[in-house]
Amino acid sequence: MKELLVVVDMQKDFVDGALGTKEAQKIVENVVHKVKEAKECEKNVIFTMDTHYQDYLQTQEGRNLPIAHCIKGTPGWELIPELQGLKEGCLVLEKPTFGSTNLIHTAVKNGYETIELIGLCTDICVISNAMILKSALPEAVITVDASCCAGVTVESHKNALEAMKMCQINICGLY
Ligand SMILES: [Zn+2]
Repeated sequence: MKELLVVVDMQKDFVDGALGTKEAQKIVENVVHKVKEAKECEKNVIFTMDTHYQDYLQTQEGRNLPIAHCIKGTPGWELIPELQGLKEGCLVLEKPTFGSTNLIHTAVKNGYETIELIGLCTDICVISNAMILKSALPEAVITVDASCCAGVTVESHKNALEAMKMCQINICGLY
């Protein structure tokens, strides 16, 4: 069984930085636990990193969300300290937008049969990546652990989970 855990954008700016929320801070412990568990079971783990540059405010995302975040090389761009020691031996994929085309290529190349996604934000980058993985690998079982995700708001977190459920993405964990 080829299994993958995708840890989406667990970066400082989304936890306690520019776009941080208390809901994001609350999932850190669950996320760390999940990553440790996956590594113990020898699952593959991929970390994605939202990655922008100095021209962020001139990009479409920046015009729609004019709050500079995850600018490469700044402290807010880094993975949270709790995960720094766990990324060793894992693929880390920088992505300039919500979904990661590199993640799709890697997942297809490796033919993963089960893929679990956790991280931030449920309603933007987790849902984007879950949906494109579902399109690229229609026979893979794709799961999102709600207890390891947080959204921009509590309501949009729940809406995103419901939308994913309708698209046959398994939702586990309490929300
Ligand atoms: Zn961004």
